[in-house]
Amino acid sequence: MKNPSSNFWLALFLFLCKITLSPAQDNESHLIRCAGTELDSFRLAKKPSLRNSRMEAEEAIRQYIQQNRSNLRTAANEIITIPVVVHVVHGREDGTIGGPGNANITQAQVQSQIDVLNEDYGNTSGYKGFYTDSLGVDTGIRFKLVTVVRTYNAKAQFSPITDADELASISPAWFTNRYLNIWVCKLVDRYLGTSQFPVVTQITNRTAGLSTSEDEEKDALTDGVIIDFRYFGRNSDAITSRIYNLGRTTTHEVGHWLGLIHIWGDRTCGTDYCEDTPTANAKNETTDATCTPVFSECRGVRTRNMIENYMDYSPDACMSVFTGDQTERMYAVLALSPRRAKLVEFSKITSDKLLVELYPNPVQQTLYTTIFTPDFEVFKVSVFNQRGQKVVSETINPTFLNVQNLPSGLYYYKVSTSNQTLTKSFVVR
Ligand SMILES: [Zn+2]
Repeated sequence: MKNPSSNFWLALFLFLCKITLSPAQDNESHLIRCAGTELDSFRLAKKPSLRNSRMEAEEAIRQYIQQNRSNLRTAANEIITIPVVVHVVHGREDGTIGGPGNANITQAQVQSQIDVLNEDYGNTSGYKGFYTDSLGVDTGIRFKLVTVVRTYNAKAQFSPITDADELASISPAWFTNRYLNIWVCKLVDRYLGTSQFPVVTQITNRTAGLSTSEDEEKDALTDGVIIDFRYFGRNSDAITSRIYNLGRTTTHEVGHWLGLIHIWGDRTCGTDYCEDTPTANAKNETTDATCTPVFSECRGVRTRNMIENYMDYSPDACMSVFTGDQTERMYAVLALSPRRAKLVEFSKITSDKLLVELYPNPVQQTLYTTIFTPDFEVFKVSVFNQRGQKVVSETINPTFLNVQNLPSGLYYYKVSTSNQTLTKSFVVR
C-alpha cells in the first residue's frame, strides 16, 4: 500500500497545478491566431470586385502550377532570400528597449523571429516541431533581416483588421516589391497577427502587371505582415504566452503573404488548393499543447488533420510542416504576383552598383520606381526641375511619386546612398 501522506501531497500538488495552469489556459482560449481571413472579409466588403480578381488569381496559380510543375521542383532547389524590414511601433516615449509588456522589443527578439522563419521554411531538423512525416519539405525560401525601424506612438493598441493604413503611416513600408515589411506592435487583445494577401495577375509587362483591380498605389503601402509583440520571436521575457511562444504566428502570416490559405479552406471541409494537405472540417483551435491528433470527416471520408501544418491554428509546439504542394503554390505566387516577382528578381541581382528605373515615362499621375541598392542599403530621393530647384524634398526609400501637382516639363530624380548617386530624368505631361 502506498504511503497515504504522499498521496495527499500528490493531490495537493495536482490541485495547485490546476489552479496555476487553468487561468493561463482560460486566458488563451479566446485568442485568435490570425486575423487574415477577417481582414480579407473587411477588404472584400469595401471592394466586392476583389472577389473576382481572387478567383482569377486562383485560376492563374492553378494554370501556372500545371504548366510549370517540373520547373517548380527545380526552382525550389535554388534558395530565394527575402529581405525583411521589421517596424517596431511602441508606446515607450523614453525609448526603453525590452522587458515584459514593452512593445519596443529587443534586437535579439527580432533576430530570434528571423531564425524561426529560416528554420521553419528550411524544414531544419532538430528544432522544436515534433512532426517527422516526409511531407514536411524545405521550401527553399529564406529570410534576411535588413533593419529594425523603431517608432514611438502614443496609441496603446492597434486593430489588425482596420489599422494597417495607420501603422503604415506611422512607420512607412520600405519598397514592398523589394522587402517583406513586418509591423510589430501591441494588437487588440484577441489577435496574434495578420497578413496582406498577394495580388496575383498574369504578368504582361511591368506597368500593366502593376495595375490590378485592387488599388495598387494604396495596397503597395500596406503590403506586409502585422504581429503582436508578445508572439513575435522566442525566448524573450516579452513573450508570455504558454502556447504561442515559438514564433510560429509569423511563420503562419508570412505563409499568407506568400499566398497560402488555411488548411481547412476557411469553411467546413473547404479547400486550400493543395492536394497533400488533408481536407479538414475546421481549424485546430485547441490550447492543448500536447498535439493530440484531430480527425475530420469530409464527404464521408475520415482523415487525420495535418495539425502540424503551419497554416493551421495549432499551438506553436505542434507546428512543423509546409508541404510540397504548399511550396509549389508559394513559388507560383512568387512568379505571378507582380510585387513578389519583382522581389525575387531583385534578390538575384549581384551588382554592387546602384540601379534606378522610372516608369511610366512620360508620366501624368504616378511615377513608379525600381531602385536597387547593394546590400539592401537605404537610399534617399530628391527631385529637381530643369532650373535645378528642388521640387520634392529628400525622402527615404519612397516607393512612388505622385506628380499631379508638378507643372509639365522635364525633371531630375536623384537617388543617393552613402557612397553612390544616380540621377535619371523624367517628363511630366
Ligand atoms: Zn491565418
